[in-house]
Amino acid sequence: MSASERSLRNPFAGLPLERFGEQRERFDPGRFEGELRCLLALPDGRIRTADDRPQLTWHPPNERADRVLLGHFEGVLYAVQWDPATTPDALPPPQPPYPDLRAHAQLLDDFQAGLAAYARAMVIWHQRHRYCGVCGAPTLSQAHGHRRGCSNSACGTEHFPRVDPAIIVAISCGERLLLARQSGWPEKRYSVLAGFVEPGESLEDCVRREVLEESGVVIRQCDYHSSQPWPFPSGLMLGFTAQTDSETLVLDDELEHALWVSPEELVAAIAAGELKPPSGFSISRRLVEDWYLERCGISLSEAVKRVP
Ligand SMILES: [Zn+2]
Repeated sequence: MSASERSLRNPFAGLPLERFGEQRERFDPGRFEGELRCLLALPDGRIRTADDRPQLTWHPPNERADRVLLGHFEGVLYAVQWDPATTPDALPPPQPPYPDLRAHAQLLDDFQAGLAAYARAMVIWHQRHRYCGVCGAPTLSQAHGHRRGCSNSACGTEHFPRVDPAIIVAISCGERLLLARQSGWPEKRYSVLAGFVEPGESLEDCVRREVLEESGVVIRQCDYHSSQPWPFPSGLMLGFTAQTDSETLVLDDELEHALWVSPEELVAAIAAGELKPPSGFSISRRLVEDWYLERCGISLSEAVKRVP
């Protein structure tokens, strides 16, 4: 399987939206011949869903709201709009549902999950870039929300939506996989290691540094696996697999516990309720599942089900 095929399986990835690209400057939504569907968001990036079911809801365009045109698909134009002054507490009771995407993503279908992730990242970017980082003057939304321009004509800096790359890596030593947990995580939850890319690093430099800093493990080699948009608030997860020759661990303060597991030990620990794998909508789960599938030829969840 190629990296492009692997990425398509990751939640939030592969959103089949025509994103306008170069047309953003000239695009006139009033002349679009299809339906316009506006998502409603809060300034913190949470997206409105239906009262009674896990689905996004469409709202009439509000000319006074801040808005980003997201793109179009099958004759429908999608946008997200929000009032920057709204606070959740100010909404009249009963409070409409604005669930946290982290908890809600798995309930949405793939298209809606991808759309919500994209919309969330854009809303948060706008809210956090209302002032120019060069001169401090207010910035204004331009190009249908895909750019913010400094309002100070002497400055005129253009700001574009930012994405923060982070690596996430499944490290194996022979037939064993490294799993670790942080103290703030839900009880018994384990995952693979991850960390933000720093300026002056290649992705592979970052894999080597993060793994060494957090676990003391020296990476022999690493390979790209797949990627996943991660709008919490503006991440792009870049998945890797890596190998080491030594299981010796020296944990830093970030990790509460780490362990090496064989495929059999992993299945037994999950089946016994002693270990919870990463959440199902994260690339970390996919990395663990692919590690297992490659060695055992069946899916991890199927193997857990077969434990008597
Ligand atoms: Zn400026």
